[in-house]
Amino acid sequence: MKLLVTGGAGFIGSHLVRSVLADRVPGLEGARVTVLDKLTYAGNLANLGPVAESARLDFVPGDVADAPLVDTVLRGVDAIVHAAAESHVDRSILAAGDFAVTNVIGTQVLLDAALRHGTPRFLQVSTDEVYGSIRTGTWTERSPVAPNSPYAATKAAADLLALAYHRTHGLPVVVTRCGNNYGPHQHPEKLIPRFVTNLLRGRSVPLYGDGGQVRDWVHVDDHCRGLALALTEGKPGEVYHIGGSTELTNRELTGRLLELLGAGDERIEHVTDRKGHDFRYALDDDRIRQELGYRPRIAFEDGLAATVAWYRDNEPWWRPSVVD
Ligand code: NAD
Repeated sequence: MKLLVTGGAGFIGSHLVRSVLADRVPGLEGARVTVLDKLTYAGNLANLGPVAESARLDFVPGDVADAPLVDTVLRGVDAIVHAAAESHVDRSILAAGDFAVTNVIGTQVLLDAALRHGTPRFLQVSTDEVYGSIRTGTWTERSPVAPNSPYAATKAAADLLALAYHRTHGLPVVVTRCGNNYGPHQHPEKLIPRFVTNLLRGRSVPLYGDGGQVRDWVHVDDHCRGLALALTEGKPGEVYHIGGSTELTNRELTGRLLELLGAGDERIEHVTDRKGHDFRYALDDDRIRQELGYRPRIAFEDGLAATVAWYRDNEPWWRPSVVD
């Protein structure tokens, strides 16, 4: 099996690559992995450090929107996990151009190449943010997309394109949508790493608005197991939600981080809320649990403590990209 992981030097992609090359992913044992990554500010080759010497890894620096390059890279590929994206909502509010090019055009370029090469499997890695915001209840895979941020709009567009290539051309596409991920190797611009690295540096943590927004947290290892299940056993043309089961307000999450780092509430700095900030995301993930046997394994308390410990132990990794 030859697997192409786009965005494999980022947070989630690199976790999947390390797991596959360590043969920790059922169904993908022995797979060879090609990583295609542009190494934007969010990509970091150090994320692949532990597997850099693996004879089963091939790293190709480059852009998913570069059609001739993608055409070459796709030769002989059995399955694509498309995780490359511009992924930070705040950046998409400031400037959405890169989001449209990478997330939408990049996906279309990959889909076209997969079609030409007859690639047997295409996994589009997506997010609960495509649905917008929900006060109560949960979204199912049949809920309509209604994205609010430019980031979410480009992800929704990419998902719809991917599903259209299945319906129109029969391309064996599967789409996954997951909640907020956390774990090691996440860029310090994202909430948990940002707060942890601020606290480790003796700084305050910038909490948006009243901190009442609700998010469902999924450990990146659980997400990757869900991705692998959807890739190997998911039904083409279908969407699968990957949920976590730990819903917290940002204020509650901040409280847990302060506690883990031995800091008090005086370290919270309330800052102007994000424009158009979605109040709550919530996925019904019954389908992947019932049909593919998925279960999240990492208890949030354990995963969060281990994540904090990882950042405490890996300052050389985060220091160059820390956000002030
Ligand atoms: P990330 O920002 O950490 O990593 C993105 C990677 O993509 C980086 O290595 C970057 O260099 C690469 N990249 C960016 N533009 C590229 C381009 N044009 N060509 C090739 N490579 C490019 O993101 P992440 O958090 O690992 O997210 C991965 C995927 O998972 C994204 O599609 C994202 O939408 C989705 N997702 C993320 C979360 C989350 O909480 N982080 C939740 C659900 C879904």
